[in-house]
Amino acid sequence: MTTLMDRREAMVDTQIKARGIKDSRVLEAFRSVPREKFVSVRYHDLAYEDAPLPIEEGQTISQPYIVALMVEAAKIGANARVLEIGAGSGYASAILARLAKDVYAVEWHDALAGLARTRLKALGFTNTHIMCGDGTLGWPDAAPFDAIVVSAGGPEVPRSLLEQLKIGGRLVIPVGTEARSQELFVIERASEHKYDRTSLGRVQFVPLVGAEGWASDGAPLGAHRAEGPIRVGAREGPRIASLIADACEPFSSVEHADLDALVRRIGAARVVLLGESTHGSSEFYAMRARITQALIARAGFNIVALEADWPDTAMVDRAVRKRPAVPLREPMFSRFPAWMWRNREMQRFVDWLTRHNATIGRPAMQTSIHGLDIYSLNNSIGAVLEFLDRVDPTAAFTAREMYACFTPWERDPATYGRAAASGGLANCEHQALTTLRSLLEERLRYSENDGDSFFDAARNATVVSEAEKYYRAMYRGARESWNIRDRHMFETLLALLEHRGPNSKAVIWAHNSHVGNAAATEMGMHGEINIGQLVRERFGDASYSIGFGTDRGTVAAASNWDAPMQVMAVRPSHADSYERLCHESGERNFMLPLRKPNTIAVRNELLRPRLERAIGVIYRPETELVSHYFQATLPAQFDEFIWIDATTAVEPLKGAQTEGDPELFPFGL
Ligand code: SAH
Repeated sequence: MTTLMDRREAMVDTQIKARGIKDSRVLEAFRSVPREKFVSVRYHDLAYEDAPLPIEEGQTISQPYIVALMVEAAKIGANARVLEIGAGSGYASAILARLAKDVYAVEWHDALAGLARTRLKALGFTNTHIMCGDGTLGWPDAAPFDAIVVSAGGPEVPRSLLEQLKIGGRLVIPVGTEARSQELFVIERASEHKYDRTSLGRVQFVPLVGAEGWASDGAPLGAHRAEGPIRVGAREGPRIASLIADACEPFSSVEHADLDALVRRIGAARVVLLGESTHGSSEFYAMRARITQALIARAGFNIVALEADWPDTAMVDRAVRKRPAVPLREPMFSRFPAWMWRNREMQRFVDWLTRHNATIGRPAMQTSIHGLDIYSLNNSIGAVLEFLDRVDPTAAFTAREMYACFTPWERDPATYGRAAASGGLANCEHQALTTLRSLLEERLRYSENDGDSFFDAARNATVVSEAEKYYRAMYRGARESWNIRDRHMFETLLALLEHRGPNSKAVIWAHNSHVGNAAATEMGMHGEINIGQLVRERFGDASYSIGFGTDRGTVAAASNWDAPMQVMAVRPSHADSYERLCHESGERNFMLPLRKPNTIAVRNELLRPRLERAIGVIYRPETELVSHYFQATLPAQFDEFIWIDATTAVEPLKGAQTEGDPELFPFGL
């Protein structure tokens, strides 16, 4: 185990010195400031990686090398008075404070300014002054400055900053009209009116907002992307691709992949998350099915939980565990996107699970299958009422009256959100919560005869209550509703683990955007969490998350919500993406362990943030870069990555669901 201090030394040597930073005072400053103190505990382990990291308010702490590059270029003497714009975490302010006499730092976000102040004080700095405000206007009362360092990228150089520079002073600032890419300039004030400008190359910073920066609300799409590494121009792709080739474990086909090593890596984990980078690639389903079968057969897993609706998946569960079925209001998996679960690949897996369970004598040892999602308001209401009708007709009467609040909206719940948002006409929060509470209060009585049925009803009542919040939040913004949904998925997982007993183990199937750690992607910077992050925080090494990726082929998707499914061609991956590196490895299919990599070099290289592709139920190839790529740090996102270079669309099942023939149920035609 290396200590954080060892890693700090190594960071200075390999990331900063090795890249040509020579100023010994600068190197000394970096040796003396503990970077981990400027990020949340979650990132302590990553504090000395060669990468920017997310901080509060959707901002980032800069990559150490970039800070060093800027600070060295600013030529800061021991008597200097320095202005920093974008104090963020306070890390760069600390470095500057080691070099200069006084550091004045302006930060836009009040919360960040407060945190930076506290951290700097705790570390004993007395020469830093942090102000919350618009740094594009500088800090006139403390001007002029010997050096100004700007840690965010604006469309042009703010005049105020030029004016507040001493003659002979230097301003280091990223400038660019594109939100995601700037040129790093050093501007030296040669005389009253003469400024000399040199360039240090291309960089990626978060936007500089404010009076002489970008509009804080009207920022262009993607403007909040993390600051990435400087692109050194050299074609480093082939080198990294060959590191991937060396470190990966290739397999010839999904059917013939040897899973022994993977099962060993998963070890004693209690929760395994299996992702997908589209919602319609056959190979992802087939590979997840193979892994899940191995975990059930060899490692004691007994829960499969899908990014699917609870009541619909409950029908599948009853079929695979041979329980009596209860009718649904709407046919199972009949809503958009029906192909996501009503497909041939899924049918094969469910058939296997049915056969497998038939060989297991004790019901407690059988594997159950469940839905974690939140989109089943109508079916969930129906299921709660159906349960109460059976066990407590009086309570059923009250619940029916309560849920009547939803009647106008239950077939199209998004309209409920709109009505609720537009001014109190509809608000069923109280009704949903009261019904849930009344049900839970009667737990002992209701679960006496049939614990499974009570559990199912309680989960449905929870879905109603969370869906109510979800649809209402949808009109306030995507972030809040996303978080409600993923928290619900996580709570459902916890409930399942508890319900199935202390030895239970779960496999989750959901999109990469749910199962990969959100904190390692742009999502985290937007304040979004997901089930993968919550699982990692709760279960640590007892969880294992696997992302999936592909370069090209075909995919089942739609061009708009509720539009018909099409088989679309997947465009070959973007030149700046992780996918391109995987493709260039030359291996068609492979597993790439990232938590315990086969070579350290591969993990280190992949720790530099890059683009990653996410195709959902909607795919719009024509706007792919803005609509389907986001920035991520792969080894912090997943414990392992499974690559299938060319993939094909899933085969949807045609026709309506029937419950006639038990042999064909639930997917019988
Ligand atoms: N130097 C920081 C990097 C933070 S990222 C560190 O080491 O952690 C850039 C910061 O600039 C963000 O915190 C953002 O909120 C801030 N910022 C953007 N526009 C600003 C403005 N006009 N004035 C002050 N701060 C600004």
